[in-house]
Amino acid sequence: MNNKKIYDVIIIGGGASGLFSACICSDNNQKVLLIEKNNILGKKLALTGGGRCNITNKKSDTQTFLEKFPESKKFLFSPFSKFSVDDTMNYFENTLNLPLKTEANDRVFPKSNKATDVIDAMISHLKYNNTSIFLNAKVTKLLTSKDKVTSVTCNNSTYFAKKFILSTGGLAAPKTGSTGDGFKFLKILGHTIIKPNPNLIPLKTNTKWVHAMSGTTLDNIKISFIQKNKVKIQRIGKILFTHFGISGPMIINTSFEVKKLLDKSNVTASIDLFPDMEQHLLDKKIIELFQKNNNKLLSNVLLEIIPKSLVTQILNFDILKSLNKITNSITKDERKILVTTIKHLEFPITGILGLDKAIIADGGIKLEEVNFKDMSSKLYTNLHLTGDLLSINRPSGGYSLQLCWTTAFVASQNTLQ
Ligand SMILES: Cc1cc2nc3c(=O)[nH]c(=O)nc-3n(C[C@H](O)[C@H](O)[C@H](O)COP(=O)(O)OP(=O)(O)OC[C@H]3O[C@@H](n4cnc5c(N)ncnc54)[C@H](O)[C@@H]3O)c2cc1C
Repeated sequence: MNNKKIYDVIIIGGGASGLFSACICSDNNQKVLLIEKNNILGKKLALTGGGRCNITNKKSDTQTFLEKFPESKKFLFSPFSKFSVDDTMNYFENTLNLPLKTEANDRVFPKSNKATDVIDAMISHLKYNNTSIFLNAKVTKLLTSKDKVTSVTCNNSTYFAKKFILSTGGLAAPKTGSTGDGFKFLKILGHTIIKPNPNLIPLKTNTKWVHAMSGTTLDNIKISFIQKNKVKIQRIGKILFTHFGISGPMIINTSFEVKKLLDKSNVTASIDLFPDMEQHLLDKKIIELFQKNNNKLLSNVLLEIIPKSLVTQILNFDILKSLNKITNSITKDERKILVTTIKHLEFPITGILGLDKAIIADGGIKLEEVNFKDMSSKLYTNLHLTGDLLSINRPSGGYSLQLCWTTAFVASQNTLQ
């Protein structure tokens, strides 16, 4: 008697897109097996949004949403026409009973602020749908016949299915399980993998005063990235100083462009603490400040306009060291040097952090080799691909997870014959 177990769908990887695929396939009454090599599901998902999970980004319509995907939007219109941001929010709120809220910049989070609630909602749904789940189970091989995948090898056993969804993630934050296994499988099957590099990642500097500011956030500052005396990138917003350099959503979202500049030659960052004020107006403001506090030490006076940790650092700059005296003894030239410095706080960018600290990696399977109507491989028609496996760049702000939900939904539609 042939007692080999045949599933309708085997999903490889129980991260964001694998879990969501399992929910949709099991809703469609398919016999599903979800295989995850970790001892828990959704290890990376638990870390998202600083533990709060920025689940999506509620732009007014798909067209506006996809503007954030300039290089890949032509591929994404089809899947997003089948499962949009509204469909996602509706599914989480009404099918998975997970209340959501929308915050600044259209970022959507679970109302509870807990990423683990997103995972638990999907796991409860899978239990309700009687889905088979293997944990501590690493898929090591995909077996094929002609243009079909027939089975997978996992923990020395072979599991068969009519359809396979590969959801093994990319290479960012490998400690969560995304170690690029899927890329290896796809390469063996004959697919092209564009080399993944860290993306959405903090920037490094070797400048001591920046390191010493670790933990300080500066809001409403302008940062310019300069190469060969030309401003190449400029942003206004918030930056976070760290023990290795600078971070925060604005920095992370420029990291891709900064990396491209670094590949060519040196890059200097220049911070303007007062972007809304021309230099002469800032000078005027400082004159007034000095007049008001003419008998006080500069280090105390500056605290009215600059955070303490930064005042301590800038008054240590060689060019400003001699200025920490009573303000009425500061000369016009010295004041001008002070104003220029706080409009142009410069330091070199020496690199980006590695894949272990990246939110996403660019690269992945070449999009031309994927059929976006059902997210299937153009080489193996019953192999479907989701999430970070795809070579798609996007900013932070819920765009990565939305890509997971949409590609997982489309991959999970009932295409079984
Ligand atoms: C710190 C951090 C914060 C983030 N915050 C956000 C955010 O707030 N919003 C947002 O939109 N995006 C965020 N992202 C990005 C987002 O988490 C990813 O885009 C998303 O998790 C990718 O989902 P995935 O299903 O493709 O892969 P993953 O979530 O990486 O899941 C892949 C799974 O497959 C398993 N696996 C791999 N190989 C095998 C194998 N051979 N056999 C069995 N199982 C295997 C892995 O163990 C893993 O569990 C963040 C990323 C990081 C690192």
